[in-house]
Amino acid sequence: MRILLTNDDGIFAEGLHVLAREVNKIAEIHVVAPDHEQSATGHAITMHRPLRAERVKFLHSTDLPAWAVNGTPADCVKLAVESILPHRPDLVISGINRGANLGTDVLYSGTVSAAIEAVILGIPAIAVSLTEYYEPRFEYAAEFVARLATVLLKQGAACDTLLNVNVPGCDREKVAGVVITKLGVRQYKNAFEKRSDPRGRSYYWLAGELVDTEHDEGSDVAAIKQSKISITPIQHDLTNYKLIEGLKEWSIEL
Ligand code: MN
Repeated sequence: MRILLTNDDGIFAEGLHVLAREVNKIAEIHVVAPDHEQSATGHAITMHRPLRAERVKFLHSTDLPAWAVNGTPADCVKLAVESILPHRPDLVISGINRGANLGTDVLYSGTVSAAIEAVILGIPAIAVSLTEYYEPRFEYAAEFVARLATVLLKQGAACDTLLNVNVPGCDREKVAGVVITKLGVRQYKNAFEKRSDPRGRSYYWLAGELVDTEHDEGSDVAAIKQSKISITPIQHDLTNYKLIEGLKEWSIEL
């Protein structure tokens, strides 16, 4: 089994290292990740400058095949699969992200976008995030995902779908279960903080607090609130199929 690992927190992020140590026990791994943090870059790809992939020492080893790329998470997966790796991977795992990727977060998330890129290339993928940002401990999430990867490959994953996994940041004894969920709603209030620069001109800095709006029991947001691991199957086809027939009735003219 060959697994490609990537992330959006950068190749030196702890979450990727802890993940690699676990997944290395069950598969042959390659690591291709951004050379610096690329959180919230969504599905961006690099078109107007060259990409470089530099071989790096990873997990204190020069034998482990790892490359740092001066691009986005989506770039890393594309470049890895199409140019760097000697073989096509059986699975791509992106993470472990420092901080949750729930509900509409997935549209901004570089972690999830790397997994979507894999699915676009026809490779099954898992995106994994730990909900704790300030004092993250990635060990349990890494063990869980290594087990999930084995199950997924045994079950035969649907190639058009990725699994978005969020693991609560609590102690492993307090993890209350695993649930299959749908994407919930995440809303932020006071998203921008307005400040003044030394010359008296205004600038804006994205900040904002999470608003507790989600009451849907079946959602990823609700699962995390209950200290459960959330697994959401996600597709990238954004078509609203229900509306296709209705729109045809509009008789829109040339
Ligand atoms: Mn990140």
